[in-house]
Amino acid sequence: MMGMKERIFSPLPRDASLEDLVPEDNFYRRLEARLDLSFVRDLARPLYAKGGRPSVDPVVFFKLQLVLFFEGLRSERELMVVAADRLSVRWYLGYDLHEPLPDHSNLTRTRERFGLSVFRRFFEQIVEMCAEAGLVRGKDLYFDATKVEANASLDSIAPRFAVEEHLDGLFERESPGAANDGAREPLDEPEALPASLDEDLLAENAAREDWIARNGRQRREVKGLWYKRTADFLASKTDPDSSPMKRRDSKGSHLGYYAHYVVDGGKARVILNALVTPFEVTENAPMLDLLWKSAFRWKLRPRQVTGDTAYGTTENIAALERAGIRAYVPLTGAGKARPYFSKEQFAYDPEGDLYRCPAGKALLPRTNNAARRLTVYKAKAGTCEACELKPKCTDNKTGRQVLRYFGEAYVDRVRSYRGTFPYEKALRKRRVWVEPLFAEAKDRHGLRRFRLRRLEKVNAEALLVAAGQNVKRLLAFGCRRPRRQAEAAALRQPLWPPSYAARTPRSSFGRRDARSRAFCNSLTSLELAPIGG
Ligand code: SF4
Repeated sequence: MMGMKERIFSPLPRDASLEDLVPEDNFYRRLEARLDLSFVRDLARPLYAKGGRPSVDPVVFFKLQLVLFFEGLRSERELMVVAADRLSVRWYLGYDLHEPLPDHSNLTRTRERFGLSVFRRFFEQIVEMCAEAGLVRGKDLYFDATKVEANASLDSIAPRFAVEEHLDGLFERESPGAANDGAREPLDEPEALPASLDEDLLAENAAREDWIARNGRQRREVKGLWYKRTADFLASKTDPDSSPMKRRDSKGSHLGYYAHYVVDGGKARVILNALVTPFEVTENAPMLDLLWKSAFRWKLRPRQVTGDTAYGTTENIAALERAGIRAYVPLTGAGKARPYFSKEQFAYDPEGDLYRCPAGKALLPRTNNAARRLTVYKAKAGTCEACELKPKCTDNKTGRQVLRYFGEAYVDRVRSYRGTFPYEKALRKRRVWVEPLFAEAKDRHGLRRFRLRRLEKVNAEALLVAAGQNVKRLLAFGCRRPRRQAEAAALRQPLWPPSYAARTPRSSFGRRDARSRAFCNSLTSLELAPIGG
């Protein structure tokens, strides 16, 4: 017999509460048990006035942001619709069945009040929790960036001067994230830095690019030497910070950004830093800033850094190698002049400061180009004219030339890593380390296209996605076992000099070789002097 369900709704029994209605194994119960968000009240407190009407609790705001992330929602309005008819979400927020939920416009205003700094602190606090749970290894870091579409159409492009004039007329210039009630106080840095009196250091720092402090903003006053940036002349009226972007899988151009991730090499793949820059900023540009910031913030001493070909600039490689960090990056065929001999077929002789060509002739340094930071090495015109290999080498009547960038000795060192086991392993690992995180963020958490506009807001959006991904790792890996002492030690500054660390490979602790174990045990009993002590 066919059944028929009658629609009868009785009032809930007096003793039924939301606590009973949400299943024991609900995901949000697990999230509530594992993630204590009470720290966000301390982050937000300076942004509120002492008296007046109570605001939405910052903990509720960030819980809602996590719901937005986990449910893959695209707007605060949609979020509140979901929250209103989901018992588990109500339970997670701490709102009883009869309590009215905050309005979606409240959430937008709260987000604007908090600004990017609070979102960045929130992200950092989540990374801190991951580190506390022993999920951050900090020995090898992986860099990558992905294209993210802006929430703007290419049809909104107009001359930049007209867009900026229009915006200046519409809005009063104010500092990003300024509050509407004057109650804000500037947030202090988590760790106050001592002021330096070293003039060289001050000058060096002043000249240094600081992409994170600028929230990824391009410096328009700095012009390229060899090309003109399209974004200097054109801007979108809808999102002036985005820039034209080509995507591999679709025809035509879009407006977009680059989202950069720094990912730890540990099994949990914790995202240590995230930054969004306009698409016109090349992938390699903020790499060093992200690295130093991550290493300083989390007290890491990475031994190796891996990125794709885009990160293998001479400047990046030289800075990494100078800091004692191995730059595991694939090198481009820079200097290749097909169908002629590539630069790699010319051997550099550091003692004589010259290149030897495939015919065995010397190419000597002719000119230094300080602006391009390179030296031009050239063979004599007569030598090349008389050479049998010239058709394979050059069609230049004045002879073949080879360019050598300042700091290319470090590139030569990186070239020598090729074929070694750690280098090949790092490159193989890179392919499966960061890309899946981007795929996860795009497919499940809306990072394919930003829902907000302008750099500060898209940075906050990307930080929230990265924080959510870290929370997932915290839930998946964080409860399996207590933090091991060795992992805790890896996050602290080592007390022994690097030469000692080099003599005690960590892997030897895991071998079942009695002799190596005895050797390690004898080392651990040594009294070690701290650095500088
Ligand atoms: S053309 Fe000049 S640089 Fe090239 S192989 Fe011959 S001598 Fe060497």
